[in-house]
Amino acid sequence: MKETKILLSEKEIPTQWYNIQADLGFDLPPLLHPVTLEPTILPPPLFPRAMNDAEFSKERYIDIPEPVRDVYKLWRPTPMYRARRWEKALDTPAKIYYKYEGGSPPGSHKPNTAVAQAFYSKGEGIKRLATETGAGQWGSALAFACQLFDLELKVYMVKISYNQKPYRRILMETWGAEVVPSPSPDTPVGQQILAQDPDNPGSLGIAISEAVADAGPRDDTHYSIGSVINSVLLHQTVIGQEAKKQLEMAGDYPDILVGCIGGGSNFSGFFLPFLKDKLDGGKPDLRVICAEPMACPSVTKGPYAFDWGDTAKVAPIAMMYTLGHTFIPAPIHAGGLRYHGMAPIISALYDRGIIEAVALHQNPVFEAAVSFARAEGFIPAPEPAHAIKAVVDEALKCKETGEEKVIAFNLSGHGHFDMGAYDEFFAGTLQDYEYPGEKIKEALKELPKVGG
Ligand SMILES: *Cc1c(COP(=O)(O)O)cnc(C)c1O
Repeated sequence: MKETKILLSEKEIPTQWYNIQADLGFDLPPLLHPVTLEPTILPPPLFPRAMNDAEFSKERYIDIPEPVRDVYKLWRPTPMYRARRWEKALDTPAKIYYKYEGGSPPGSHKPNTAVAQAFYSKGEGIKRLATETGAGQWGSALAFACQLFDLELKVYMVKISYNQKPYRRILMETWGAEVVPSPSPDTPVGQQILAQDPDNPGSLGIAISEAVADAGPRDDTHYSIGSVINSVLLHQTVIGQEAKKQLEMAGDYPDILVGCIGGGSNFSGFFLPFLKDKLDGGKPDLRVICAEPMACPSVTKGPYAFDWGDTAKVAPIAMMYTLGHTFIPAPIHAGGLRYHGMAPIISALYDRGIIEAVALHQNPVFEAAVSFARAEGFIPAPEPAHAIKAVVDEALKCKETGEEKVIAFNLSGHGHFDMGAYDEFFAGTLQDYEYPGEKIKEALKELPKVGG
């Protein structure tokens, strides 16, 4: 009974995604049009119909198309590990489990949705996709997915990352994508920015605007998004459904679930299938802890308010925890956690006190990541390193109280492209950015005036 990893067979890849909207017991606030502020759907020329259907659906389970499951078989089901060596290193009575999503070809959870989105677009006769990427995790997941469904992909990659982090660009190119530094001369918005400032380093907001400007006017092109929206969170629930089964096989049920939140997709995918048990009344004491960076603390420090999804105000307005769409966080290494807002589903659950959140500084996060890597071997990406620090804190509380709690977390990706961050940590040059209170206050002045 001393298993280290709990494995499922390919037959046990979920056949359906789990839709939390069936069990919330309340309606999510509407999405609003970025210009008219009227209730809206995801702009149809940009998104496949199936994404829009899922976005607003109340069906509890939504079938996973067979060709999508077939691609999932390349790396799913993913393993669940019991972290026995790390438990010993932490000297904690807690039982720690982690679900490892770093074994997918692009190295993170992101292909769980990328593959679905590429499949749906292909089915509607679309020939190419356009998207943005920061450090390249989303771009590489979508490049992989487009290659498998024979779609072209154009990726607008934030210029500073394009120049500083070439390896994920090369990964995207290996999977056949065209990658350009953003701002680029390929779109009107890019041209305009370059005319004023040829050395503009780019931002995710600019890159989103370019990808949307690329896809909008073209009948053969969809836009694709890697996090935040309900349908993307839905696609990620394969993680939690597998995890539930694996913990059951291990004879455990979690007391505490932990994950990192950037836009909220990997952790939602992990915890939502468990949260159903809490909402149903069966597991009232289940704790869910979201870990975010102190440099971009949307949930712990932001207001719950309507805001645009992107800096350029081309994306719909959502009710969410936000630091303001003009907020630009410090350049922490966890690029995936630098989004100003948060998934509406996570936001609504946090607002109602159903889930918790903590904000963490970089150095303690990397200290925890190194302790994990030295015990378990896997090198975590900087994003899930935040979850790992939150797990350490809970495990050490158990040590104080002697409680044998079951803690499970989602290890959303490996850190093989992030060794520069570890290098800075070892050299003592990794910065703990102060809480950016003044910058947040400024950015929050730019929120839309909704409802008077
Ligand atoms: C993108 C990314 C994240 C953050 O995005 P979520 O939507 O919050 O999951 C976290 N971990 C990894 C490895 C990522 O690539």
